[in-house]
Amino acid sequence: MALTDTVPAAAPPAHEGILRRQSLRESAARTYARSLPIVPVRARGLTIEGADGRRYLDCLSGAGTLALGHNHPVVLEAIRAVLDSGAPLHILDLATPVKDAFTTELFTTLPPELAENARIQFCGPAGTDAVEAAFTLVRTATGRDGLMAFSGAYHGMTAEALAASGGARHTSVARLPYPYDYRCPFGTGGERGAELAARWTRNVLDDEKSGVPRPAGMILEPVQGEGGVIPAPDSWLRRMRELTAERQIPLIADEVQTGVGRTGAFWAIEHSGIVPDVLVLSKAIGGSLPLAVIVYRAELDAWQPGAHAGTFRGNQLAMAAGAATLAYVRANGLDRRAGELGARMLARLRTLAAAHDCIGDVRGRGLMLGVEIVDREAEADATGARPADPQLAAAVQQACLDRGLIVELGGRHSAVVRLLPPLTITDEQADAVLDRLADALSAAVRTTPGSTGPSPTTLRGTSA
Ligand code: PMP
Repeated sequence: MALTDTVPAAAPPAHEGILRRQSLRESAARTYARSLPIVPVRARGLTIEGADGRRYLDCLSGAGTLALGHNHPVVLEAIRAVLDSGAPLHILDLATPVKDAFTTELFTTLPPELAENARIQFCGPAGTDAVEAAFTLVRTATGRDGLMAFSGAYHGMTAEALAASGGARHTSVARLPYPYDYRCPFGTGGERGAELAARWTRNVLDDEKSGVPRPAGMILEPVQGEGGVIPAPDSWLRRMRELTAERQIPLIADEVQTGVGRTGAFWAIEHSGIVPDVLVLSKAIGGSLPLAVIVYRAELDAWQPGAHAGTFRGNQLAMAAGAATLAYVRANGLDRRAGELGARMLARLRTLAAAHDCIGDVRGRGLMLGVEIVDREAEADATGARPADPQLAAAVQQACLDRGLIVELGGRHSAVVRLLPPLTITDEQADAVLDRLADALSAAVRTTPGSTGPSPTTLRGTSA
């Protein structure tokens, strides 16, 4: 595959005009638009075509939303079927055949222990609203108020979801250590680091003078996404499940980004075998359209009518597209495929890391992959970790874009290059992605002077 399929001699004015007007008219808080100055006009599968005629391999996938890539035929067919049927598109939270089919399909994918006795709440159509709903649910059910969340977490941008995230500024949410192998807060890493993180949590829970009252719930991501693609060890997740179950604390698994096959299992919690009390779901469950729900154990269903309301909880097109996506992933074993291909891509990334001392760590699960870019000239600390190099990471992202590859940055210092390709990516496309990334890395290293750690002047937008 050619690096960039077409590069016209002069970009059409429409393309530049749109970008110029965007920078004049849109908010200073815009995010992806800053590092990805492209104007998508057509898209199919892994490929996006810009208004300037350039084609890109899209490994951002709408921040992990597009399990089947752009405009998959089964998704388009499902949307057309609703449009052609004359069904209402907006129905608040009323029952419809489309909604009924979505719920049935979603429940088919759940761990049987949860599906047997589950309730679903349709939320406002963003992950963050479902996180808020989860908090209201567990607070009502337990009569307690506080929450426990983890360093590096990302749960959304509404007040409570933000308070539970690692970027929180003012919060009463108790923050616990998430096992981060490469930058282990206990200086050990591996299973030992995860065990110490779990002990810390147990201690906070059981020490009457810890300053943290028994919480209404604990929220965690099985793989931190925005936090830098950090998979939690299965043993740690099982410990969190034990600790919360023993103390009647509802465990909320935020699978907004990890769900629908992304990590190599349909739901990422399946790797460890745990069954949470609440699952927060969004992104891929809408098949590229906005949809968010929580699914939870019926015993928690103690809230009152209207406890979590919202106008847009009945998007029929999203439910149809989502049901089609869930069914397609399930029928075609795309979760297994993500696990196998992801493992091969990770192995190739490890080879790349051996050749580039600016790569501190590569990690991931399934098709949720991360490459942590570090200062190649800095000394490693006692655990072998070097300071993040956000400047170089931004240069890698730009060099990828120049080569027709869209990647996202994440992590504590925006220094983790993230790959979130659709689960439908072929072996050849995966090779093309990694070839472009390898080339971009070499180019960025050649053109970026060595830095001495995270620059406070590197101001990047927050991810979704
Ligand atoms: N939880 C997780 C794990 C996420 O990754 C995100 C978005 N990146 C959210 C919640 C928030 O979702 P939304 O942006 O749709 O509000």
